[in-house]
Amino acid sequence: MRYRKQWVALYKSQGGLCAHWGWALTNETSWHDHHLEYRIHGGTDTLSNRVLLHPDCHRQVHVGKLAVTKPAPSLH
Ligand SMILES: [Zn+2]
Repeated sequence: MRYRKQWVALYKSQGGLCAHWGWALTNETSWHDHHLEYRIHGGTDTLSNRVLLHPDCHRQVHVGKLAVTKPAPSLH
């Protein structure tokens, strides 16, 4: 899976927490890869434009058109 390494980087940059409500992301909850700037609006596929969310949170964000921000500055 070519995204696996990127997911690990995103997971670490978020401290293992969902970018929406801040609850822990685990293998059991699983996660979705969310583009902050939607790709159809010209968003890129870089890590800075992506966050991990719970599948349910992802649905809420899209249904409610909610803004999601990076939960923590990058580790650099
Ligand atoms: Zn969540």
